[in-house]
Amino acid sequence: MDPIKTLPLVFEEPKGRGKPPRHLADLTPAERKARLEELGLPGFRAKQLSTHYFERLVDDPAEMTDLPAAQRSELVSGLLPELMTPLRVMEADKGTTRKTLWKLFDGSLVESVLMRYPGRTTMCVSSQAGCGMACPFCATGQGGLQRNMSTAEIVEQVVAGARSLARGEVPGGPGRVSNVVFMGMGEPMANYNAVIGAVRRLTDKAPDGLGMSARGITVSTVGLVPRIRQLATEGIPVTLALSLHAPDDELRDELVPINTRWKVGETVEAAWNYANVTKRRVSIEYAMMRGINDQAWRADLLADVLNGYGDWGWVHVNLIPLNPTPGSKWTASDPADEREFVRRLEAKGISTTVRDTRGSEIDGACGQLAATE
Ligand code: SF4
Repeated sequence: MDPIKTLPLVFEEPKGRGKPPRHLADLTPAERKARLEELGLPGFRAKQLSTHYFERLVDDPAEMTDLPAAQRSELVSGLLPELMTPLRVMEADKGTTRKTLWKLFDGSLVESVLMRYPGRTTMCVSSQAGCGMACPFCATGQGGLQRNMSTAEIVEQVVAGARSLARGEVPGGPGRVSNVVFMGMGEPMANYNAVIGAVRRLTDKAPDGLGMSARGITVSTVGLVPRIRQLATEGIPVTLALSLHAPDDELRDELVPINTRWKVGETVEAAWNYANVTKRRVSIEYAMMRGINDQAWRADLLADVLNGYGDWGWVHVNLIPLNPTPGSKWTASDPADEREFVRRLEAKGISTTVRDTRGSEIDGACGQLAATE
């Protein structure tokens, strides 16, 4: 018996909200063709619609001049229904960081962030409206889970970013999305099938998908162990980012409540297994919280826990400075403590970086924009 498939999902999705519109990004090329035929339309048009969506990044039916005018609106509503509307766009870093708050068909709010750097552009996307993981330091976690997003809703965030880059709307001239990180709202592994579907659409060759390299994609998790194991079997070498935030069960039970189900040991072992199977280095995310998880002894313990699985470079630690929130229990570490944390990890041979705080002036941490709306 396969233990992965028999484990129930950790958090059930609330019922009764209806389903997002079916979109070509939800479907494989064969399913797109079948869908059009079901609607009494010519199946071969699916490829043209896919080309408009994934390759030409067109969203205005008037520009789809290779489709017969008489059928155009039926074809577009059949496979390219509107999935989300932008409610608000906030910019920082001279327009090279753009955060968009999206309204989905049922009124749910999610957000995505585009970050342009010299030589690469990263889209940070949401995978759920809200989140059921209840991490106490996270704004999204406080509101609970509204619902899972569909594959197409996830993909559309990337396509929207790709469109604005292609149209030269982001300073730096026309460009492409090179990286996607599943670090927006939600726990990607709690919406596993839709997230895997999205990864496949992002990596499928154009015009079936966006034709991105799996190496440019990072899927994060707080540690749904059976799903980490399952991801290792998918044959798509994405980068896995494990949000650990504490090296000991006592503190992690509090910071990341899913830890009461899968402990630090099991979680890190699953991440190590992922690195071992895929040969991709795992990223350990660690949000530095003043006086909570940033003590020197915890840096030593973190290094020991990770080194327990070998020192062949399977892991990298990414420290995330929290936004400073004066008076809050959850605030940024003292810079001197942060430096000492890095020093201790590196002294034990752990490759470590401190994440740049792009977008902190527009509430770059996940969930904060939606929470204020
Ligand atoms: S930190 Fe991530 S997993 Fe935890 S509640 Fe927030 S969105 Fe969910």
